[in-house]
Amino acid sequence: MLSFAAALLVMALAGAGADNNGLKRMYVLDCGRLIAKDQSRWTPGVNAGQQRELSNSCYLFKHERGTLLWETGVPDSVTDQKGGVTSPNGAVVWFRDKTLVSQLESLRVKPNDITHVAMSHSHADHTGNVKMFAKSKILLQKLEHEFAMNMTPKPLTDDQNVQILSGDHDVFGDGSVTILSTQGHTPGHQSLLVKLPKTGALILTGDLVHFQYMWDNKIVPSFNFNKEQSLASIDRVIKLVAEHKAQLWIGHDKDITARINRAPKFYE
Ligand SMILES: [Zn+2]
Repeated sequence: MLSFAAALLVMALAGAGADNNGLKRMYVLDCGRLIAKDQSRWTPGVNAGQQRELSNSCYLFKHERGTLLWETGVPDSVTDQKGGVTSPNGAVVWFRDKTLVSQLESLRVKPNDITHVAMSHSHADHTGNVKMFAKSKILLQKLEHEFAMNMTPKPLTDDQNVQILSGDHDVFGDGSVTILSTQGHTPGHQSLLVKLPKTGALILTGDLVHFQYMWDNKIVPSFNFNKEQSLASIDRVIKLVAEHKAQLWIGHDKDITARINRAPKFYE
């Protein structure tokens, strides 16, 4: 039998850990594949002229207080094009083996059930299906919203339910899912810190970096919005990985994605 003081200590430790939050499950969804003719687009001067396949994932979080979809992937309409679809900037060919909507359906989730949607940034391989979530609150940094609404075509509709963020944001108010401001790839790029009760802490990078090699060598693509901000954001996430003993999941790195269980499997 525990003494009263020991019982208090046990309760305090449980409260301090990641095991005492309302996050129930994380599902990883297949949100397309990208084939690049020249991978040095991301790694200036390295592996020039070499083809590379990039993975692309979306993540569904089931929390006591709602549901968050992180990333929406390449457009579902790409699924019908077996030869793929060249991206608007011509840099990659998109493929989609399964639609996002069918993967949600197989988890018995309809777009209107999703309370919150957030994307790392506004590029089309991340925002391809955001218009489907007409009722969800879309969590976007102020600078990213301005950037997105100046694009042609706009990734969002004019009447989507956008919540403007300025900096980090605790999505469900218990520290289980936190949007991190990691500017640089685009004006308001964001990453996601996740604390799962059993799996522990993860950081989903978005396009902070695209491949492990870029993380290991602090490489910034030449087409990023701001190089200094990009490097500062990498440094910020290096510190957070250490502080939270977090795993780093780089969504476009095919080798990392191959080791991750996709839905219907899930992480708790
Ligand atoms: Zn991307």
